[in-house]
Amino acid sequence: MRKKVEVDTHMHSHYSDGSDSPADVARAAAAAGLKVACLTDHDSCAGTDEYIQTATELGVFSVPAVECSAIAFDAEVHILGYNVNHRSPEFIDGLKSITAMRDLRAQRMLNKVAKILGYPNPDIEEARALTESCGPYVGTWQVRQFFVIKYGVPMETVASLTKRTGAGFEPYDNSVLRSPVELVRFIRAHGGKAVFAHIGEFWRRLVKVLGEVDARVELISLIESLVGVGLTGLEDKCYKHNELEEAMAHQLAVKYGLYCFGGSDNHGKFTPEKKMGLPDKNPIMTKARFIQFLSDD
Ligand SMILES: [Zn+2]
Ligand SMILES: [Zn+2]
Repeated sequence: MRKKVEVDTHMHSHYSDGSDSPADVARAAAAAGLKVACLTDHDSCAGTDEYIQTATELGVFSVPAVECSAIAFDAEVHILGYNVNHRSPEFIDGLKSITAMRDLRAQRMLNKVAKILGYPNPDIEEARALTESCGPYVGTWQVRQFFVIKYGVPMETVASLTKRTGAGFEPYDNSVLRSPVELVRFIRAHGGKAVFAHIGEFWRRLVKVLGEVDARVELISLIESLVGVGLTGLEDKCYKHNELEEAMAHQLAVKYGLYCFGGSDNHGKFTPEKKMGLPDKNPIMTKARFIQFLSDD
């Protein structure tokens, strides 16, 4: 019989690109029957305290966590950090360059849509204030909301416009990002444990840039470097992986003695297909194993 999944350590609130407040994410985790659930907003721990307070009240174990972006071979790498010292000013400062990159992208999206609709360039702080009920993060959803709230443009019009013109999918300026090795060092230096998120997605991007043969060599070399600076886990079971990628990730984990994770990458109502607790996957992580992972050096 399939055992119930009790650990889901990858989810987002409206402090990054999720739809819900951290407290609501914690409520959803408890309702999904999870024993362990971590909030891993992109490059921000601004929702951590609110999340952990509610999670703890509801009997869900959690630690301060984050999903950070790095860059390798022109492909984005996401590394999850668990049990990070999220109140350290140096840590918060270290996340800021990545958050700034997200704001620059949002400003470009706002300008692009405004230009098409014939409005002046919006001020991102005005957009943030107007879309406050959607959270402090300004992403594609908030960009759309801004034009609905400020100018009364119907949501369907803005949504189809951002899709059609690519304005909702502006690329990031990746040049400000750290290398994955620097990022794992950064997480470790602030008390965290580092886990390679959806490694199969990175693999796909790497193959596009380098071709399959070189991508394989570089992936192995990258994993070895990351293990050398303290990577202790990777996600093998996740929605972004097909069966082959899942198997490849699992093999890497076995070869390098890494913990396997299977987070849902839930974004609330923005990603209804990413259900907390991955009910269609076999359980691969238990609360006891997660606690062992946190204390393992
Ligand atoms: Zn990610
Ligand atoms: Zn994520």
